[in-house]
Amino acid sequence: MRVDFDKYKEWTSKESPTEAEFNQVLEKAKELKGLTLEEAAVLLRIEDHQQIQKLMDVASYVKKEIYGKRMVLFAPLYTGNVCCNNCLYCGFRKDNKELKRVVLTQDQISSQVQSILESGHKRLLIICGEEGKNTLPNIVKSIRTAYAVEYKGQHIRRINVEIAPLSVEEFKELKKEQIGTYICFQETYDPELYSHYHISGPKKDYQYRLDVMDRAMEAGIDDVGIGALFGLADYKAEVLSLLAHAEHLEKTFGCGPHTVSVPRIEPAPGTPFSEAVPFPVSDDDFRKIVAILRVALPYTGIILSTRESEQLRKELFAYGVSQISAGSKTNPGGYGKEDSSNDNQFSLGDHRSLEQVIENLVDQDFIPSFCTGCYRLGRVGNDFMDMAKPGLIKCFCLPNGMTSFAEYLHDFANKDLQKKGFDVIDRMMVDLPNSESVTHMKEALTKMEKGERDIYL
Ligand code: SF4
Ligand code: SF4
Repeated sequence: MRVDFDKYKEWTSKESPTEAEFNQVLEKAKELKGLTLEEAAVLLRIEDHQQIQKLMDVASYVKKEIYGKRMVLFAPLYTGNVCCNNCLYCGFRKDNKELKRVVLTQDQISSQVQSILESGHKRLLIICGEEGKNTLPNIVKSIRTAYAVEYKGQHIRRINVEIAPLSVEEFKELKKEQIGTYICFQETYDPELYSHYHISGPKKDYQYRLDVMDRAMEAGIDDVGIGALFGLADYKAEVLSLLAHAEHLEKTFGCGPHTVSVPRIEPAPGTPFSEAVPFPVSDDDFRKIVAILRVALPYTGIILSTRESEQLRKELFAYGVSQISAGSKTNPGGYGKEDSSNDNQFSLGDHRSLEQVIENLVDQDFIPSFCTGCYRLGRVGNDFMDMAKPGLIKCFCLPNGMTSFAEYLHDFANKDLQKKGFDVIDRMMVDLPNSESVTHMKEALTKMEKGERDIYL
């Protein structure tokens, strides 16, 4: 895999596009087939307020057409903060002497997962620092431990993992563990700046990281998630690089990334670099980034973390974000405790509990979704893309989102939220694709009232 970062910088630094050029790209975006790199570069060059508004409108249209009013929720689980790398922007880096180092024991992981289950989550993202070559067996153990935890008959139904790049052989081992998506961010696709920020440790190897998804897919891991840490380099070239990465995977393996993540640098304890961001991305630019990714990669989920503020997260739901973390703790062992933010990887912008996030989503007429249907039915990789591309995503995601939310309402919500939540489910019936789907949904809701759980298509 090669990324020509300088070429992308050149493409995006040209003058603003003409109205005709701009409109042509927007018309193409409305066809829901995605954009080429050159077309995305046109959108990255717009500065005019009206053009930006038009872009946002088209992004909202694409989001609504493909994803409907549904938001997938997950909880990150940091299993440790020991790391042999020295990424200048990260609170977990090796040379940060202010950080209290922790690696959770399997018992601690169990109790963290129990706290996460108690809050109502069903989807977990396991994250840990890099500790040298011996990490995989520990990660496998942690995955097994997390899947084995039971709370009042509830289990985690899907675990995604965000861990350091592995070899093809190691990925084959990881695949046996029933993981959902393998996630790894390039951080920055600018090779020069990458060397500058990653001063020591195995992560210093730009190319090994860039090829990680090729190795994962070669090993049979069908769902991968890419991402960049915005603030490290020119954001426009970074967006084109993400799109180039997606294009490369699609051409090589017939299937692009399942998700793209868009974190922005946030202050981290003991990390002065994170307080003086080299390429700051304003909220306005950040909205543009999300909107352009949405229209360029219409079938790729966009993940937003709790780094961003409640207000901005709300706005970005409309422009393209389809998955969010909620009620997150970014310090290992943080769930079930009062906040002790001194050992966080970064500062959170959204401190709300899962319940508060859900209330808010419901107030905006969104269905909070804990759906894991595709993973349980093996509808991943190319099978998922075959389903998603003709727009069928809505036929599965909305009903599954509704049943998974109904389950949450029965098992975890207070009376007020139950009322509001079931009202939204009722209102969403009209968005179901056909009358068969409505009948199925009504039957599923009745079964759930009688105590049945885990109903999905
Ligand atoms: S970003 Fe990841 S690899 Fe780098 S120091 Fe932090 S935990 Fe380690
Ligand atoms: S139906 Fe598949 S794609 Fe849709 S939310 Fe569920 S798991 Fe994700």
